Formats: sequence, structure tokens, C-alpha cells
Amino acid sequence: MRNVVRSYVITNAPAILQLVGTITASTTIARMGNATGISRAIYSDPYSAGPDEGNQSRVIDKLNDWYFGKCAYCERFYKLDVEHFRPKGEIRDEDNGLLRAVGYYWLGYEWSNLLPSCISCNRDGGKNSKFPYVAGGNLVTAPVFDAVGNLDRTFCLVEHHLLVGELPALLNPETDINIVSYFAFEVDSDMQGIKIKGIDVNRRGEITANVCKLNRQEIRRDRLQGVVMDFVNSVHNSVAILKITNDDNSFAAQLNLHIRKVYNDCNEPKLSHTLLRKYIVSSLENFEDIVIPFIVPEFQQILLTAFKNYTAI
Ligand SMILES: [Zn+2]
Repeated sequence: MRNVVRSYVITNAPAILQLVGTITASTTIARMGNATGISRAIYSDPYSAGPDEGNQSRVIDKLNDWYFGKCAYCERFYKLDVEHFRPKGEIRDEDNGLLRAVGYYWLGYEWSNLLPSCISCNRDGGKNSKFPYVAGGNLVTAPVFDAVGNLDRTFCLVEHHLLVGELPALLNPETDINIVSYFAFEVDSDMQGIKIKGIDVNRRGEITANVCKLNRQEIRRDRLQGVVMDFVNSVHNSVAILKITNDDNSFAAQLNLHIRKVYNDCNEPKLSHTLLRKYIVSSLENFEDIVIPFIVPEFQQILLTAFKNYTAI
């Protein structure tokens, strides 16, 4: 997960969510009091993109202006669902127990409530209808209508203080600033993957990881292969060259370049796992915990020193 700043202005929403018919339908659904009238044909706006692509979604296409094809939760490139941050139907807790039989039905077509989620974070025992809360929040259980009886969109915005005041436990990459403060990473005991863990006192990081199943085997392996081994292989290539050339100066310059790439990559939103990339370079301890175990032993200390002495220029 990485922080994303997205525009909720309706003119920046997908075209189908701007249609008068969709806005009218939102009011109709809000008056009905349940999610039965919500249509995937509207909140996803699917289309056939040809034999190589299969079915795609115009809403996902629009979300990709901000998410670049990545899942909002696990930051991988994968088949994406249009996910309702606040569930439109029932609401379940972290352990999938039923909290409320009726969900946020009035937010079914709310642009700020839609996130791109990969099908394994959303389905497969993942997030689905789960929306646990931190204790002490004031839950919003009904929509607000304006003076002429239409659904009042102001109260539907994910950043509205009444919705924020519910104290959702699930982190939202757009409204929970400083996502980095909720998570740490560690190497699996069998060294086959990298695990994410929550570290905040309210357990929001831990709950988010549990709800979205962010420690599934394929994600742990993807973090290791896509981020850590990419760097480790570059270092080992330079080690191989050093053994032929014995050119220590060139080797030191190459290590500095490899480290610079990790620093640069953590600010590149189009790459996967930027949260992990940030974590690795944010302290010497993190670098030592996550990267060093994969480096050939005789070069571990040399690489640590190179990290300590890293220069940006
Ligand atoms: Zn995902």
C-alpha cells in the first residue's frame, strides 16, 4: 500500500458516474434502503477489450490514472476489481463475523468509495465485505438527503468528517496519510518471501494485512523476487565483475549506483511494492534485516558499509 492523492471532483470521475441517470439512481437506491438495486454494469462499466485482453472496466481504467495498474492494497500488477472500500451490502468484521446485515448501500456509485483491488486481495477469503472498526468511533448507518430529497454527495465523500469519525480499521491509501507508519517487513523464516506486519497501537496495519490477506504466499514471494532479489542480483553481478577485474574503485561506484536505484525506485509510483522499497532504505537496521541475509557472506559487511556511506550524487 502506498499513499495516493486522488481527485474526488465529479468531473474527474469516470464518465458513467457523471451521468444524470447514475446520480438519479444513487438517490433511488438510497431511498430503498438496501443494495439490491446496485448494478455492476454502472460501478465497473465493463467492456470487451478484444481477444488478448478479455473484459476490462472503464472505472478501473480511470482509477489507473492514479494507481497505474496496481492493487490499492498489495501494490502488485494483477487482474483488478472495482472494490467498494465501504461495503455496499453486508458488513463483516476482521474474522468474517457479521457486523451489520445492511451495508453502505448509498455508496455503491460513490467515486471516492471505489478502489482498484486485485482479485486475490478482494476475493479468495480476502477483503470482500469486511470493514472492521477501531473502538470508539461513531458509525454512520444511513444516507443524508438534501433539501429537495436527493442523496447529498457531500456526506458520501470518503474524506467527510462523519465517515472519518467512524474510525475504520482498514487503512485507506487516500485518506490515511503516512501509510509508512503502520507497517514493517521481515524475511520469512525459510527465506522464500518477505512478510508485512502491522506496527501501530490501534492494530490498523495488522488488521489491514489480515483483512486483505497481504501475507499470501504469492505476495510474499513477489516482494522478495520483485524487489529484494532484483537488488541482490545486481550486487552479485558486480561481485562477479570485481573478481575478474580486481577494480575496487569501480566496484564501490557500482554498489553506490545499485543503492541509488533503490532510493529512486521508492518514489516511482509505477513500480510495485514501493512501501517495501521505502522501508528497506529508511534505516540501516531495515537494510540489514531485509537485504543482507541474501548477500554472499564475504560481501555482507562491505555492502553494509556502502549503504552507510551512500552518497546521492
Ligand atoms: Zn492486491
